[in-house]
Amino acid sequence: MPKSDPNSVSEFDLIARYFSPPATQGIVGVGDDCGILPVRPGFQLAVSTDTLIEGRHFFSDTDPTAIGHKALAVNLSDLAAVGAQPRACLLSLSLPQVDESWLQAFSQGFLNLAKANDCQLIGGDTTRSYDKTILGVTVLGEVPVSQALLRSRAQPDDDIWVTGALGAPYAALQIRQGVWNADAAVLEQAMPRLLWPQPPVHWAPQLLGHAHAAIDISDGLIQDLQHILQGSQFGGRINAADIPQHGALAQLSPEQQLEALLSGGDEFELCFTAPVEHRAPILDSAAKAEVIVKRIGTITLAPELQVYDFEGQLLRTLPTGYDHFNRS
Ligand code: ADP
Ligand code: MG
Repeated sequence: MPKSDPNSVSEFDLIARYFSPPATQGIVGVGDDCGILPVRPGFQLAVSTDTLIEGRHFFSDTDPTAIGHKALAVNLSDLAAVGAQPRACLLSLSLPQVDESWLQAFSQGFLNLAKANDCQLIGGDTTRSYDKTILGVTVLGEVPVSQALLRSRAQPDDDIWVTGALGAPYAALQIRQGVWNADAAVLEQAMPRLLWPQPPVHWAPQLLGHAHAAIDISDGLIQDLQHILQGSQFGGRINAADIPQHGALAQLSPEQQLEALLSGGDEFELCFTAPVEHRAPILDSAAKAEVIVKRIGTITLAPELQVYDFEGQLLRTLPTGYDHFNRS
């Protein structure tokens, strides 16, 4: 077949062209049967994997650079949630066809973020799928032995914190899908937060020794915080008025704002708990790293979650977050 036919590209050409970043010293990268990386003494490997499916996790017409960025960002977010520093990643690509301009842009988005986080692509898999693109990413990170932030470590009277200004990814989805009516300007302001998540990966390891428990906000603040509460077997109290709100929400109704803050997924920011005496170092290091952090509540002995609305009224029913098999 002539070279101009995109389907003439072999699997190996494709890997060599788009997914073979220069190897970091001391690491065996793409091209051998296994990627190989050293683990420093005193550290443990933190490993996580996430799949993105066309039509479910990203729109087919989304800029492929953003898709590449997001495929890795959602995984880096999991490393951030345990306080691990990224080291390497693997990419499993299932493509319905070879579209070189798509692959070029996708790999650029993926590899730019990988480079910015010292997260070397050390391998993967490339297969042909039926009609949808499916992206599987695995990340490996390093965390000092026994110091990882786990969901189960929250303690009564801990402050509950979040990073970032929340609500925009959910608002973007609701508007884009026609569920909410809003000015085009609102969508324009909110959409980048859905397409280009920026988990606080560089800063998260600084929570070690300060925070007790953490999770990344992927399915909605309430649902994700509930995982910490259930894992730790305590309860919590949070104030919606204290949750930093993304500027794109300003023109929406208070009901929409509340829904976006409490049940909006796709944030890839952190929710963490920390003892009161660690407030100052947390605020200091976050300010230096230019990460937004805010205290939104407290861990309680009583095992339920109490959420207060913008007026300080206790919510009687809690919104649910996203569940792939039980869609709300
Ligand atoms: P094997 O058959 O030994 O599993 P493959 O032929 O599938 O190896 O892949 C060849 C090399 O390319 C391996 O190092 C593999 O990890 C890497 N690789 C394959 N697909 C990708 C991809 N999408 N991204 C990064 N590396 C990849
Ligand atoms: Mg092999």
